[in-house]
Amino acid sequence: MKPGSGASLAIRLPSVDRVLQSGAGQALRARFGHKAVSDGVRLELARLREAAIDGHGGVDISADGVAASVESWLERREAPSQRRVFNLTGTVLHTNLGRAILPEAAIEAVAAAMRYPTTLEYSLDGGARGERDDHVRGLVRELTGAEDACLVNNNAAAVLLVLATHAQGRETIVSRGELIEIGGSFRLPEIMRRANTKLVEVGATNRTHTADFEQAIGPETGLLLKAHTSNYAIQGFTAEVSATTMAALGRKHGVPFFDDLGSGTLVDLSHYGMKRERTVQDALRDGADLVSFSGDKLLGGPQAGFIVGQKDLVRACAKNHLKRSLRLDKLRLAALEATLKLYRDPDRLAETLPTLRFFARPREAMAGQAARLLPVWRAFVPADWETGIAECASQIGSGALPLDTLPSAALFATPPGNRKGTALDELSTRLRGLPIPVIGRIHEDRLMLDMRCLDDEAAFLAQLQPNTGGEA
Ligand SMILES: *Cc1c(COP(=O)(O)O)cnc(C)c1O
Repeated sequence: MKPGSGASLAIRLPSVDRVLQSGAGQALRARFGHKAVSDGVRLELARLREAAIDGHGGVDISADGVAASVESWLERREAPSQRRVFNLTGTVLHTNLGRAILPEAAIEAVAAAMRYPTTLEYSLDGGARGERDDHVRGLVRELTGAEDACLVNNNAAAVLLVLATHAQGRETIVSRGELIEIGGSFRLPEIMRRANTKLVEVGATNRTHTADFEQAIGPETGLLLKAHTSNYAIQGFTAEVSATTMAALGRKHGVPFFDDLGSGTLVDLSHYGMKRERTVQDALRDGADLVSFSGDKLLGGPQAGFIVGQKDLVRACAKNHLKRSLRLDKLRLAALEATLKLYRDPDRLAETLPTLRFFARPREAMAGQAARLLPVWRAFVPADWETGIAECASQIGSGALPLDTLPSAALFATPPGNRKGTALDELSTRLRGLPIPVIGRIHEDRLMLDMRCLDDEAAFLAQLQPNTGGEA
């Protein structure tokens, strides 16, 4: 401890007021407001005082020097926490990166709904109170063939509401092969506990037969449930009871059959170069009394949960008091209506709906893009690394079609030497530190940037280019 060194620095440090009154301080106040700047200056001076006492000298402690530090602190603080990124992970519907990106039509609809009062629950015919779900109910009926529809926060909420409405205090029968867990916090047995319905598991993990269900149905049965095994597939010696059979069983015993489709696409994905996935229309045609699915998975819209099916059963869900806690706000209803309307023109869906556009991109499109970007990528990556274009497989994501991948092309970089892990982490960190962070994927000692979801090539290119003119 050197008594006096701290004190002498404290004397040399400018006062809060001097920094605030300086030219730089006044400019900052005009930009960020008096309170934010004086808070920043106080914090910065306290930090300098402490650093000096700890013996770290050699910093610019003029009023301008202090103001410059405060400026970068304020800028960091003002930057949005949720930032735009480039999703080059190869997973189109990446849950951690916000799943589906919305079509332009939805973005415009949301902006208008934010800016003005709307007829959210107001009927212009006579000025009576309307129902918020009416804005999409007709559309959903038209597109899916369902008798009725009810909208909630997400598909997890849809499942909860169906169970709580139709099987509370009673039993729900599910195959052991379909007791799913999705993305950490959605676990079917847990949701059932919350909905206060008793889980009755039937069959074995790999095989469940009609007789297993038949034997389990009794006076306490509230629902028969089928859940899409979204993020896994049971292969080998397997047997599953089809939706058609479950629907027939339900009818025979007077028990509703609920099909949790998970992703729930409205179109035949084989038209877009993917494997055909059961559609919502299929599930209804197969005889499900209730079907639930997500808004932001294959549908390509905002986060939402759909409950569709038989009128009485859907209305009962809508009337449940729990619906009030799970309902959609005006912004998501606006986005959903605009997204669903695009489905009226299926021929142009691959242009109008970004999710489908990404799925439908042919391999050559990504390969061409990678070839255009390769020189800039090469210059960005350390000179002794190997770089090039690799064949890769994009994933659908969000647990949809887990085994189905789409052929794609990626820029790759492989470091030399034997400390590859550290080197790859360093490059990933550099990419994440760009103005628009770039999120890639590390696979077998390579950093890969899958081109499938790179739509703004110009913005990507601009930030990767070496800073010319900066070092005159
Ligand atoms: C994704 C999924 C859910 C949860 O849907 P969210 O919209 O994410 O809440 C539920 N069930 C199945 C089968 C799913 O695939």
